Amino acid sequence: MIKTSTTDLPSPCWLLEESLLLKNLELLKYVKEKSAAKVLLALKGYALWKSFDSIKPYLDGCCASGLYEAKLAFETFNKEVHTYAPAFKEEEIEEIASISQHMVFNSPAQFKRFSKKAKNINPDLSLGLRVNPEYSASPKEIYNPCGLHSRLGTTLVNFDESILGECDGLHFHALCEQDSDALESVLENFEEKFGSYIPNMKWINFGGGHHITRKGYDVEKLILLIQNFKKKYDVEVYLEPGEAIGWETGTLISTVLDIVHNGMDIAILDTSAEAHMPDTIIMPYRAEVRGAGEAGEKRYTYRLAGNTCLAGDIMGDYSFDTPLQIGDKIIFEDQMHYTMVKATTFNGIKLPSIAIKRLNGDIDLVREFGYEDFKERLS
Ligand SMILES: *Cc1c(COP(=O)(O)O)cnc(C)c1O
Repeated sequence: MIKTSTTDLPSPCWLLEESLLLKNLELLKYVKEKSAAKVLLALKGYALWKSFDSIKPYLDGCCASGLYEAKLAFETFNKEVHTYAPAFKEEEIEEIASISQHMVFNSPAQFKRFSKKAKNINPDLSLGLRVNPEYSASPKEIYNPCGLHSRLGTTLVNFDESILGECDGLHFHALCEQDSDALESVLENFEEKFGSYIPNMKWINFGGGHHITRKGYDVEKLILLIQNFKKKYDVEVYLEPGEAIGWETGTLISTVLDIVHNGMDIAILDTSAEAHMPDTIIMPYRAEVRGAGEAGEKRYTYRLAGNTCLAGDIMGDYSFDTPLQIGDKIIFEDQMHYTMVKATTFNGIKLPSIAIKRLNGDIDLVREFGYEDFKERLS
């Protein structure tokens, strides 16, 4: 359904702007061309598949965190599919192996248990092991795959050299919204621990968390690190960013439903921090709101809050030049990554619709959700 103006969109609604997406993709293409690395889209962070026709020409494929993401990559992206899971299930191996190019195991035990079966199903499948470089400068423990007792990836003491004959590649993922200097430190630790195995490998996957499209990210340093690594070891290098693809490419548009007062002014919106933008609570971070400032910075300060019964369903305190009115639109910036992939129907709240602003200015309302989506997830 084509709309000509955002005011015709249902509320709440996620709105992707294709021109902003292409800006990110052009930069990622530049990284690919200069470094000769392959770049995959991590579906975990961004899986708006109705935008994949725009992404396909720029990237080499998708990385999937299990069967369902692998199927989505296979059906809607149709380029390379790299599948990793903290643990694979026996009954899913056949399907995953048949639609993937790379399959990455989390432990030598899983590798040995499933490698033969997977290769029998798909002889072209390339098998790898995720390792834990035991170093990460990840800013938050919940996002630190190399933290204390992490289950993600095999540590050096748990490495099992008996898999080396069948293992084409090593994978690490140790970054979270980080710059290329953090990658440099991870690489030093990875090489120090696993360097002796790299000559046996066809590829090394540097994981995600590279904040390549963020303003100020040192792209040239990333390119240099990859070039040097490739020169040193003569292997294929993969990057699999998620957030960097969707970074600052669109908004979540919501509406003020009511304004209540309890020691301060509180605007209740038709969206939810808990259900639609959960990282604002989990990470936590403060989403930018278009036209708004910090609390007290402009004349009229409001707490923006969600329409669920969770007391903590709060986006934050923001100030505006003019008083908010019922029916006003509140536009949260940068809401494309780790939002719709995580959204829930908690409290029976309606999922935001999804729209894409095309390059010609048309706004394509690609998905609306209703009561059935809530009901069908329950029984
Ligand atoms: C989360 C994740 C990614 C993507 O991370 P971003 O921070 O979105 O770039 C890539 N690979 C693996 C294994 C992941 O767990």
